[in-house]
Amino acid sequence: MEVWFTENQTPSVRLGLKVKSILHQAMTPYQELMVAETDAYGRMLVLDGAVQTTVMDEFVYHEMITHVPLMIHPHPQRMGIIGGGDGGAVREALKHPSVEQVHLVEIDAEVVRQAKRYFPEISVELDNPRTQVHCTDGIEWVRQARDLDVLVVDSTDPVGPAVGLFQPEFYQSVADCLGEEGVMVAQSESPFLEPEVIQMVVQGMRTVFPVVRLYLAAIPTYPSGFWSFTLGSKGPLPGPADLSRAKFATRYWTPAIHEAAFALPQFVEDLIR
Ligand code: SAM
Repeated sequence: MEVWFTENQTPSVRLGLKVKSILHQAMTPYQELMVAETDAYGRMLVLDGAVQTTVMDEFVYHEMITHVPLMIHPHPQRMGIIGGGDGGAVREALKHPSVEQVHLVEIDAEVVRQAKRYFPEISVELDNPRTQVHCTDGIEWVRQARDLDVLVVDSTDPVGPAVGLFQPEFYQSVADCLGEEGVMVAQSESPFLEPEVIQMVVQGMRTVFPVVRLYLAAIPTYPSGFWSFTLGSKGPLPGPADLSRAKFATRYWTPAIHEAAFALPQFVEDLIR
């Protein structure tokens, strides 16, 4: 008998993945957490029915949400990651020798626990001495944080505890916690299926940051496979990446991709005009 996992991505679009086995399924205090072994994409983390990460395509998301802001900041040392309890963004951040400290702020301790258990290749740096894990609400944490160089919002969709991470008040707190050349990035969903989320994030960030840019990446298990990130910068402009700093291995991010990702199709330009 074949078993299929279905994600209702919108009321009229579904993603179907053939599942070999379900390894874990439980309610946490915040959400329903499932880990399954899929045929096509390997092990998969699902929260409230939405795919968060799969072993096969996670590198695209984690490299693009991390290396782009870290390469734009001239000398990133202190970084915060809101959400991201799987640890993929931490793993990428620690490839940068200048990064001395990464604060991972994940509201749901169970995500961190199950990531360590089922996704060792993704959560590999969570116990690194340069990583500090805080299991608390990122909105509150950002309010009292100061002097960060880069802040990454690696959140779930704007529902439940993540709603506040998409509001202008949150972007103001982020700007306040960043230093003079601070850079933030938030995952901002798909231009095909959630254009209104992109508009909300871009407009919200524009009320706070002098520089706001959208960039794109191909992530097959996310709705439509065509994903956006929104970057807000207090100073540095996204420009050509300094090759000499990129002395680490990546599978998606390259200096050429870094620049090309900011080239937007006309319909996306129109969306954020
Ligand atoms: N890559 C993923 C995606 O776009 O589908 C996101 C992965 S990561 C697992 C998202 C995490 O954000 C979840 O583990 C969730 O618990 C966390 N989260 C949601 N709201 C949060 C908040 N207010 N503070 C901190 N973490 C939050």
